[in-house]
Amino acid sequence: MTLLQTPAVSLAPQHTSALEDAQAQLAEAVAGLGYDEGTHAMLSKSRRELTVSIPLRRDDGSTQVLAGYRVQHNISRGPAKGGLRYSPQVTLDEVRALAMWMTWKCALLDVPYGGAKGGIALDPRLYSTPELERITRRYTSEILPIIGPQQDIPAPDVGTDERTMAWIMDTYSVSQGHTVPGVVTGKPLSLGGSLGRASATSRGVVHIATAALRGEGIAVAGSTAAIQGFGKVGRDAARFLAQEGALVVAVSDQYGAIHNAAGLDIEALAAHVDTTGSVVGFGSADAFAANDLLELDVDVLVPAAVEGVIHEGNAGRIRARIVVEGANGPTSRDADAILASNGVLVAPDILANAGGVIVSYFEWVQANQSYRWEARDVEARLEERMLAAWASVNEHARAHDLTLRAAATRLAVARVTEAHRLRGLYP
Ligand code: NAD
Repeated sequence: MTLLQTPAVSLAPQHTSALEDAQAQLAEAVAGLGYDEGTHAMLSKSRRELTVSIPLRRDDGSTQVLAGYRVQHNISRGPAKGGLRYSPQVTLDEVRALAMWMTWKCALLDVPYGGAKGGIALDPRLYSTPELERITRRYTSEILPIIGPQQDIPAPDVGTDERTMAWIMDTYSVSQGHTVPGVVTGKPLSLGGSLGRASATSRGVVHIATAALRGEGIAVAGSTAAIQGFGKVGRDAARFLAQEGALVVAVSDQYGAIHNAAGLDIEALAAHVDTTGSVVGFGSADAFAANDLLELDVDVLVPAAVEGVIHEGNAGRIRARIVVEGANGPTSRDADAILASNGVLVAPDILANAGGVIVSYFEWVQANQSYRWEARDVEARLEERMLAAWASVNEHARAHDLTLRAAATRLAVARVTEAHRLRGLYP
């Protein structure tokens, strides 16, 4: 694969930070549920936060020290669970927000986990594979005291993949003296990964997108979609939407965007990205400014890149009927209010992109059982859970006149609070 030059797309200016957005969503849920200040304080603080320095011996013999984080937001419903992100934008506050959203996601989908997230502030494209391996192994050894199959289970996120998970599993296993497949999910299949895990988030996004389209009275076949981000989530979301008969008219990545009103050939585009490293330059499409993708007149918009891309500065120009949040936190709280008043239906991240954690849970169960499920079992159970959550969030939203995000957050916060109440406060 040819690595591209400097990214052509910069992050959209963030009007509120991810942590401010996450805290505001929690505050609204706590107020709506009538909980007291003490409960709010318990839910708003991370249970554990670990900041580590990662000294790296570079290939040229020099030494560099990177900053890494692992935040466990809540562990009342089970072991902490959440991805590991490699990106130059990673900060402790970003990881705190992402960990909190994981808590709500696991509770909403009723998987027996709390929420966590990890991150290292680095641009993985600037490091060789041996350097990335050394970074990952040293980070793992630094956070070793707080991870484990019953403690905290990392998974891939932006900038990490199944190879990263294999290194974490190996480092952890060496420290224990035996193989521990349940310490991570999103592993390679040959190391105990689950069939269907790699595409699970995207499958879940498409289950929610098609349910939302039908709910709005729009036929899926022939509907139009635009997708921001062509990574682990965006690429398969585009593929599955196209398989359902939707026209994926535009996609973007950090280098640029492409458009074809007749619908992009996703398989050909995926092959182009495998060769060149970007959607840019794909033959059967027109190039256009990447940030304009969000404002296209389509039935479904899937932000599947980074947080804060729909903000008060552009929310009023969003023309999609439905926004399905493949990414975590793509819509700021100000933008949320603007979209709601303009009648744009937003399927929130903690529901829409939960497919990944659902199949991570299945992978962990398979690791604990030392037994592999068939792909069709994984996919049927995933669909069942996604559609059940979609139905319950819609029902709650209708019954209490809430947005889907407010309804989803309240349902999740209520479940976590119930776990706190049943367990009691020690000592
Ligand atoms: P990835 O690193 O595989 O892909 C990210 C994609 O976004 C790349 O195509 C990149 O070029 C693009 N991108 C980055 N900045 C951009 C910008 N400003 N404009 C347009 N494109 C941009 O990451 P991923 O795993 O696909 O994760 C994407 C989002 O989905 C993140 O918010 C992540 O937290 C969330 N998510 C991922 C999973 C999962 O299973 N991987 C599960 C749930 C949620």
